[in-house]
Amino acid sequence: MSVNLRDYIASVPDFPEKGVTFRDISPLMADGVAYAQATDEIAAYAKKLGVEMIVGPEARGFIVGCPVAYKMGIGFAPARKKGKLPRPTVSASYGLEYGQSTLYLHQDAIKPGQRVLVTDDLLATGGTIAATIELVEALGGIVVGTAFLIELKDLKGRDKIKNYDMLALMDF
Ligand code: 5GP
Repeated sequence: MSVNLRDYIASVPDFPEKGVTFRDISPLMADGVAYAQATDEIAAYAKKLGVEMIVGPEARGFIVGCPVAYKMGIGFAPARKKGKLPRPTVSASYGLEYGQSTLYLHQDAIKPGQRVLVTDDLLATGGTIAATIELVEALGGIVVGTAFLIELKDLKGRDKIKNYDMLALMDF
């Protein structure tokens, strides 16, 4: 029997600032059944696409991507913020509401031609995932799909990655 994953998302008004409703995935992660179900659904999607490697951005992209990689018996590479990765990297910058941020990926994280799934917990404007895709492609990887627990429909992040296959387990 499956659970309704929406029941495991806490909606927190006025966080991190007034007027924003934060979708907190902690209750989903804290429940073994819900977390396993979300992982299994994404792994089934990845299997269908013939995924060989998973890349996720710091930090909640790890929470989604790592258990899927384990389940599939494939690898995971972290896309990280400045100053975290110790060896040569490629980088991609993206716009935030105020200012800019940059993500980095080790240069040897992906083999050219490898079929990659990019994961994150939530799709909002799409800036984070677009930067992660850019990193994978800079290394010659093929982004065959993107997977999220949650899509925030109003922010239209889907438009930013319309050339890529996408799975979101729920939307708000
Ligand atoms: P985007 O780059 O698509 O605008 O924002 C998505 C990124 O911001 C994701 O990495 C996600 O972790 C984080 N994020 C933005 N809003 C929320 C939210 O309401 N809940 C959670 N869990 N993450 C959020």
